[in-house]
Amino acid sequence: MPVLPMCRHASPRWNLAPASEAGWSCGDCRTVLGFRPDLDRSETRHKVQAVLLTLHDMDLLYIGNATEGELVCAAVAARCHREDRFDQVSIARFILDDPTVDAESHAMYWAQRASGDIPAPVPAGSFDELFAASPPMPARAIRRRDRR
Ligand SMILES: [Zn+2]
Repeated sequence: MPVLPMCRHASPRWNLAPASEAGWSCGDCRTVLGFRPDLDRSETRHKVQAVLLTLHDMDLLYIGNATEGELVCAAVAARCHREDRFDQVSIARFILDDPTVDAESHAMYWAQRASGDIPAPVPAGSFDELFAASPPMPARAIRRRDRR
């Protein structure tokens, strides 16, 4: 990671700036770095991570864990370089296109739920009622469970 020329720190940070793409600052001393195409290229993963975390924090999409987030960041950063696009709108588009995020499955699931092709899941809290309504567990199954 390059040392930042203005403050000599090495922690570039991206803050969302959709109208200007001038969101770079130093993560250590907060020196404003602004629009920096050189950092867009050398620190692409920082910028991708900031956009991904924003989408996650605003509850637009769900990233299950850090490993999944890193996979998405690596793939999207590589696509930024392949397509020579480093603006945050393209980054958001690439994130939503990413196979790990799998927006298409999300869309298909909710379309099928809306049409009734997939039944609604059992609401939390009603499992006790379902269990009470089901026939008693066979004695053989209970004995097998108790042996463990
Ligand atoms: Zn600094």
